[in-house]
Amino acid sequence: MTDRDREGIALELIPEREGHISLKTGSGPGRIACDAESLAGAVSQRACVFCGARVVINPVADALHLIHGPIGCSTYTWDIRGSLSSGPELHRLSFSTDLREKDVIFGGEDKLYRALTELIEAHRPRGAFVYATCIAGVIGDDIKAVCARVEKENGLPVIPVQSEGFKGNKNAGYKAACHALFNLVSRGGRRDARPLSMNILGDFNLAGELWMVREYFERMGLEVVANISGDSRVEQVMRAGEAALNVVQCSGSMMHLARMMERAYGIPHLRVSYVGLDDMAGSLTRVADFFGDGKISARTRELIEGELQALEPELARYRRRLAGRVAAVYVGGAFKAVSLIRAFRSLDMQVAVVGSQTGKESDYDEIRAAADPGTVIVDDANPLELAQLMQSRGVDIFVGGVKERPVAYKLGVAFCDHNHERKRPLEGFAGMLNFAREVHDSIFSPVWRFIPRAGSGQQSAHGR
Ligand code: SF4
Repeated sequence: MTDRDREGIALELIPEREGHISLKTGSGPGRIACDAESLAGAVSQRACVFCGARVVINPVADALHLIHGPIGCSTYTWDIRGSLSSGPELHRLSFSTDLREKDVIFGGEDKLYRALTELIEAHRPRGAFVYATCIAGVIGDDIKAVCARVEKENGLPVIPVQSEGFKGNKNAGYKAACHALFNLVSRGGRRDARPLSMNILGDFNLAGELWMVREYFERMGLEVVANISGDSRVEQVMRAGEAALNVVQCSGSMMHLARMMERAYGIPHLRVSYVGLDDMAGSLTRVADFFGDGKISARTRELIEGELQALEPELARYRRRLAGRVAAVYVGGAFKAVSLIRAFRSLDMQVAVVGSQTGKESDYDEIRAAADPGTVIVDDANPLELAQLMQSRGVDIFVGGVKERPVAYKLGVAFCDHNHERKRPLEGFAGMLNFAREVHDSIFSPVWRFIPRAGSGQQSAHGR
């Protein structure tokens, strides 16, 4: 371990991790080591390739999702990576081939064939995804061949997801998911683009956000052909080639699909974010500008003004209470980190620590540009680093996902889940109000009276 304090970042670090942490000192470009395999033994917060693929595809609600591997991989279920559906809920069931020693020795293809056939008979899905895990990859099962056979026999799309856990990090899982989804999109192929139409890529409808965002686009006068993959259906994904534009949030996970559709069908894409008022408004405006239609632009302006006016009085109350508080942000994708910096700024709060699991160099350039001088930027962090940073920077609230929650609570720091365990929508205009409310309620929760802030010698946030 080394002490990293030459840039004013007090941190005990594994030496190889040094380059992954940097301090924004001015407005110039900075450097950070990123987009690399996690350091063995550093206890990365990242998930594996299979988990990355699963989170992207699982919201397809009328598909069968079968995990070809040992039962342990299947603990990664809808219950911890929820996504809401307005109709069928087959995606909530988790199926596994439960590979055991005998299958490892003799191969698991027969078992996979039998499981698929039985499940299709029992659940009558509109399609099926078969996820490869580490063991399936190691024993060399030909998942593609089994899927092709079952597809032919049953007359529905059965799609292999090449997500063997060992072949990279979560980013490789996103790529595997996009290949599988494009496999489905290509069944429908490209038809003449429907005028004023679009696909929503990269919203997973964790707590109903997709419904809010979809409604905004429809109020603008646009037709949403497919939402991939929040609240989506197999047939809807197969129609995605009919859209005139792909609008991509969570670009780390879905940009591969957008690029594949652009190459194959010439469908352009726009990167957007629905997190925070500025980013939400800016995203709708950019989509309206793309279509260059006066009526759509006018409706968009009206929509934005109406939403902002309705929220402002309540937001102003939270802003007064939260002004000057300090936040740390550690999320999967960098797009959300950038949006959260702006969202906190709109609440008169400061982000002192910001990081992502899977950011690339260009993502960190965006984070650096959005962050205030003095902000610590961290790539692929581990719990020890996050805990030290929270303490040394006097953080009042930590925004992260399920794996970061206990790190914050053990230190007596408030927490906001901006990931798959959230139960209230935190995107869109109304989502920003929910976000302000969650941040406020967590910081000012009476529970902090009983849990002193660890290591800082500070009183808890409540009552300070
Ligand atoms: S795919 Fe491999 S790394 Fe991922 S959960 Fe399964 S065994 Fe673990």
